[in-house]
Amino acid sequence: MIAPAATPYVDARRLIKVFRTPAGDFTALKGIDLQVNRGEFVAIIGKSGSGKSTLINLITGIDRPTAGEIVVGGEPLHTFDEERMAEWRGRNLGIVFQFFQLLPTLTLVENVMLPMDINRLYPAAERRDRAMRLLELVEMDGQARKLPAAVSGGQQQRVAIARALANDPGLLIADEPTGNLDSRTAESIFSLFQRLVTEGKTIIMVTHDEARAARTSRSVMIADGQVVNEHVTQALAALNYDQLAEVQRHVAPTAFAPGSVVVRQGEPGEHFYIITGGRAEVCVEQPDGRTLPVDSLRAGQYFGEMALLGRRPRRATVRAAADTPLEVVALDGATFSQLVESSADLRDELQRIVQLRETQSRVEALADAGRDDAGRDELRRLAAGAPTRTFAPGETIIRQGDLGEAFYLILDGEVDVFVRRGADDALIDHHGPGAYFGELALLGDRRRTATVRVAGTQPARLLELDADAFASLTQLSGRFAADLRAAAAERTARVRGDDR
Ligand code: ADP
Ligand code: MG
Repeated sequence: MIAPAATPYVDARRLIKVFRTPAGDFTALKGIDLQVNRGEFVAIIGKSGSGKSTLINLITGIDRPTAGEIVVGGEPLHTFDEERMAEWRGRNLGIVFQFFQLLPTLTLVENVMLPMDINRLYPAAERRDRAMRLLELVEMDGQARKLPAAVSGGQQQRVAIARALANDPGLLIADEPTGNLDSRTAESIFSLFQRLVTEGKTIIMVTHDEARAARTSRSVMIADGQVVNEHVTQALAALNYDQLAEVQRHVAPTAFAPGSVVVRQGEPGEHFYIITGGRAEVCVEQPDGRTLPVDSLRAGQYFGEMALLGRRPRRATVRAAADTPLEVVALDGATFSQLVESSADLRDELQRIVQLRETQSRVEALADAGRDDAGRDELRRLAAGAPTRTFAPGETIIRQGDLGEAFYLILDGEVDVFVRRGADDALIDHHGPGAYFGELALLGDRRRTATVRVAGTQPARLLELDADAFASLTQLSGRFAADLRAAAAERTARVRGDDR
């Protein structure tokens, strides 16, 4: 039996905030959903003006939503009146602001005692001791009797954190707490937050600092008053906030029933898809009509980029896994192309992924082609660790007479095979994607029996497998060894010119 999912500690649903201004209504939050579990350290990120502080102010109850629900620790804050809200906030919430907001006429220790004096959760006689212990925690106990103006900004922020912890709240909310601090001080405040999380606090922190956001348990990006799906930011981590906001404006969420086809091999590509839930299976139709599974993708991964980048038909069929619906967001081809144009990082990342996927499909096809299980698994294992090399059109890959140390699987492109006949090189063979070559030297006396060059006008991309890999494949797989012997006999005959 599946246990019911635990209720989130912070549960914001369809939060809408409309500000009425002289210039008209302005919708700052357009239906935000945010769930945070106990013990999480969540960074709220996004451009200035995107709605981060507005959201934070709804969670703290400093402001009220126009519509939607905000439940914290089971309490429906959106239904509370001011008095109940203030009471709840004092007991359950610690708030840290960008500009510290310590009372200037109270000493540091008095600032920390203030929330205890207001909420009276601790006996009066204990409050000063407790405040001193909190100041010790933030390494400010030595300056307890100073006024805020007598210490630095970073030190004031430490005291503000001690004050936020005064009533031992479960939840800490911080709006750009390091935004006004130099980077070294900011780091020390950030590590203090990290430590509080390990001690059981839940923290929601707005930050401009992408590097620090990456060190929290989760980043939630706000753009134009909406949450950008976390799997989208994960999938497109190469993009900046502006570009992600642009994606958010163009994506359409779509669901596919278990087993249904999202893109079909051979059809033109019109959309790019990012998975936000469920699982997708990628398969390639083989020339003999069989369907070969080549990959399985989950939330935070994407597909559909190959056809859009190459302006060619879909190279594979992608469908929802048979046992679960697939949730995706679809981005139209034009927006996708603009993004690719505007981001060198995304281009690099896509190129890397495309090559990886092409390699994976080729290797699966090779592994499938008549190998036994042992050979298939070994080929997959070897391919995962083997380097791929790209050779320019006309470039020589191996040269007759040289010592052979490796053999090659053709991932992309084509090669010609030549042998010396008198003064000339005679073309004796031609191989395309999926073929291998260079094995004869490894089977024989290690000297290359032919020269292999890149044919045509396209570069050739090859997977290079060394002699050890070759040995382990032939030893593990009886089928592979038998195939090789048959191919070797035929190729040796060609080299000798027996077939002429
Ligand atoms: P962020 O914290 O992400 O920089 P805010 O949440 O402060 O952004 O603001 C989001 C948008 O709402 C901005 O366009 C801002 O001008 C507008 N806004 C915020 N508070 C008010 C208000 N009280 N009245 C009118 N507009 C507001
Ligand atoms: Mg703000």
